[in-house]
Amino acid sequence: MTQATTVFQLPGFEGALFHPGGAGYDDARKLFNGMIDRRPAVIARCACAGDVVAAVNLARDKQLPLAVHGGGHGVTGAAMCDGGVVVDLRGMKRIEIDGDARIARAQAGLTWGEFDAATQQHGLACTGGRVSTTGISGLALGSGSGWLERRFGLVCDNLVKAEVVTADGRIVTASEDENADLFWGLRGGSGNFGIVTEFTLRLHELGPIVFGGMLVFPAERGVELLRAYRDFVHDAPDEVGSAMAFICAPPEDFVPKEVQGQPVIGVVACYAGPADDGAAAYQPLRDLGPALDMLQPMPYVAVQQLLDPANPKGRLNYWTGDFYDALPDEAIDVFVARATIPVSPFSQMIVIPGGGAIGRVDEDAMAFGERQAAFNIHYLSMWEDPAESEKNIAYTKDLSGSMKRWTSGRAYLNFLGDEGQGRVEAAFGPQKYGRLRDLKTKWDPTNLFRLNQNIPPAS
Ligand SMILES: Cc1cc2nc3c(=O)[nH]c(=O)nc-3n(C[C@H](O)[C@H](O)[C@H](O)COP(=O)(O)OP(=O)(O)OC[C@H]3O[C@@H](n4cnc5c(N)ncnc54)[C@H](O)[C@@H]3O)c2cc1C
Repeated sequence: MTQATTVFQLPGFEGALFHPGGAGYDDARKLFNGMIDRRPAVIARCACAGDVVAAVNLARDKQLPLAVHGGGHGVTGAAMCDGGVVVDLRGMKRIEIDGDARIARAQAGLTWGEFDAATQQHGLACTGGRVSTTGISGLALGSGSGWLERRFGLVCDNLVKAEVVTADGRIVTASEDENADLFWGLRGGSGNFGIVTEFTLRLHELGPIVFGGMLVFPAERGVELLRAYRDFVHDAPDEVGSAMAFICAPPEDFVPKEVQGQPVIGVVACYAGPADDGAAAYQPLRDLGPALDMLQPMPYVAVQQLLDPANPKGRLNYWTGDFYDALPDEAIDVFVARATIPVSPFSQMIVIPGGGAIGRVDEDAMAFGERQAAFNIHYLSMWEDPAESEKNIAYTKDLSGSMKRWTSGRAYLNFLGDEGQGRVEAAFGPQKYGRLRDLKTKWDPTNLFRLNQNIPPAS
C-alpha cells in the first residue's frame, strides 16, 4: 500500500473495504465497460443496509464523491468514481421467495441470473434483464426491460416495495402506502433518490420450460425482414417476447464457418405463456425462411443466458438508445443500410417492440413514462482494440443520429451514454422532469447521489 493511501475505518462495518494497492482492489473496480478505469479512495462492499448507511455517511461527512455499484453494467461507468467512496452492493445477495403471495424480496447485489435461478425453483418469474450477469438494481431503477414485459410489464411495474438508504443516512421503506412520492421516483428515476438495498418484486407463473431461442437470417434481407417483423409484432399477443438484432454471427459451433463474423440478423424469442403454445405464435417468423432455426422448448433460465456469450465483461462499449412511435418504411431503409455494415463484429443494434402490458400503465403512474412507443432501439457498440474507439463511437452516433427524425424525442435511460443533461430531461419530458427535480430537492437536496443519469435538485 502506498504511503499516500488513506485507510478508512468504518466502526461496525460487516462487509469488506478495498483500498488502493490492497488485495482485491483492482478486481473490485473493474466494470462491464472496459473503457472505464477509475480509482476510488475506498470500495465499501456492504453486507447489510447498516453498512450502506455507514458508507453514505462517510462520503457525505468527508465530502467525497459517492458512486453506487449494483451489477456494474451501467455503460457510463458511474458505478466507479475517482477518489471517492463506492457503495458496492455485491455483498448483498439474499433472496426470499413467498410462493403463495408470489413475491420476491431480493437484495440489491443480485444479478438477474441469480434472481432467475431462485424464482424458477418456484415456477415463478419477474420480467428481468436479457443478460444474466446484469445487476437487478440499476436495471430495475431505470425501468427494466426484458423478454416478459409485454405480458407482465417492465420491472418497475412489478416493484411492490423498496428498502432505501437516504442521503441523510436513514433507512426508509418506499411503497404505495409509505413514502409514496419516493416510490414514484424510484420506478424509472434511476439512482437519484437513495440507495435501494432491497427490492420486493411481484412474480408470475412461468417456466421452468418456455418456448424460445433464436432465428438467424442473412443480413442482405434486412429491409424485407424488419418490415415483416414490424408488422408481426404489431398484431402479436402479449405473450410474444422478442427482439430483432443486427449483429455479426458468433464463432460458435452451430454457425457454419463461412458465416462466422459476417453480418446477420437474429430474432430472439421468449414466449411468456405455456411452452406448448409458443411454436404457433412464432410461425409467421419461421415462414420467412431463416437460415438457422433454433426455436424450441427450453428452460427459461437458458433463454435468459442466450445473449451472455455476446456480452463479456471488459470489452470497450459505447451505447445509446431511443424510443420510436413507429418505424415507417423510410426509417427501416435508413436503419438497415447502416446497421448491416458494422465497424466491429461485436456490435449489436437491437430493435425491441413495445406494446402489451407496458402500454396499459398510466403515463403518470411513476417516473418512467414512455408507454406508447412502438419500438425501442438499443445502439450497442462493442469493440476490443482501443485504437478503434473513435471509429466505433462515430459509427454509433452516425447510425442513431440518422434515425433521430423518427424518434419520439424520448431517450431510454438504461442505455444512455454520457450524453448531457438535455438527454436525461428528454427521457422524461419537461413536465415529469420538473416533478422529479422537486422530488430530488426533498430527498437529496445536496445532490449526494449525482454519479448517475443525474436529475439535479430544483433549487
Ligand atoms: C450486457 C448488458 C445487458 C443489458 N440488458 C438490459 C436489458 O435487457 N434491459 C434493460 O432494461 N437494461 C439492460 N441493460 C442496461 C442496464 O439496465 C443498465 O446498464 C443498468 O444500469 C445496469 O444495472 P447494474 O446494477 O448492473 O449497473 P451499475 O453500473 O452497478 O448501476 C448503474 C447505476 O445505477 C445506480 N444504481 C445501481 N444500483 C443501485 C441501487 N441499489 N440503488 C440506487 N442506485 C443504484 C447507480 O447510479 C449506478 O451508477 C443491459 C446492460 C448490459 C451491460
